[in-house]
Formats: sequence, structure tokens, C-alpha cells
Amino acid sequence: MKTPEASERRRRLWRLWRLAEQQVGRMQRAEAMCPGSLYLLRRRCGKPTCRCRQGELHATWVVTRSEAGRSRLYRVPQAERAAVRRLTGAYRQWQRSRAALVKAMRELLRELDALAETRMQPWPARAKAQRPAGGKEAADGPARH
Ligand SMILES: [Zn+2]
Repeated sequence: MKTPEASERRRRLWRLWRLAEQQVGRMQRAEAMCPGSLYLLRRRCGKPTCRCRQGELHATWVVTRSEAGRSRLYRVPQAERAAVRRLTGAYRQWQRSRAALVKAMRELLRELDALAETRMQPWPARAKAQRPAGGKEAADGPARH
């Protein structure tokens, strides 16, 4: 059907399609990645005479991630920090793209379903459909030749 509403839906549909295409393009890269968040953990060590008692906290770069439902924490050696930053960053980007793709595909299907609704024609005609079944009227039965 060529209604203004349907045209608007078609525009949205193709916009969502391009958006999805963009995300797929980002997600299919060969770049290595690794789950987890890299951050600088600052804490006290527990020794009563340590300088951290005066507020100079120990700082350690760590990666946290959930493994089998449990939160795990890994120390990241200085030499590996840049690589780990790149790996976890790539994974975060992948997750963002995936979420955006799921959202775009849901909206896309909604638009397609709504467009399909506008194409629906009632058949058989209402009056005939409501006639009680079981009669031997030729008009209601399948065509016989
Ligand atoms: Zn300390």
C-alpha cells in the first residue's frame, strides 16, 4: 500500500537495515579481543605500619570479569597492560555492536510486521465466513469441475 505512513515505515526500515549492516561490519573483524574490564585498583594491604595506612594506597592494574557466575580479578603486569587494554576494548566494542544489532533487528521486524498488516486483505468475505458450516450449498464448497 502506498500511504504516507507506509512510506515513512519503509524509510525507517532501510535506515535500520543500514545501521544493522554497519554493526555487522564492525563485528566481523578478525581483531583479537578478550572479555573483562581493565582498571586501576587502589587499596590498603593490611600491614599496620605500611604507608597505605596514611592514605597512600597501593595501586594495581587489574582485569575483572565474570566467570561461571563469579567475579574474578586478575593482576595485569605492566608489560601486558597496553595489549590487555586493546583486547578488552575490542571486546567492549563488540558487545556494544551486538546490543545495537539486536535492537535494530527487533525494530526492523516491527516495521516489517506493521507493513505486512497494511497489505492484509480479509478473505473470505465476512458475510460468507459467518454462515453456519455444514450446509451442502455449492456456493460455499470447493469448486467442482
Ligand atoms: Zn600497604
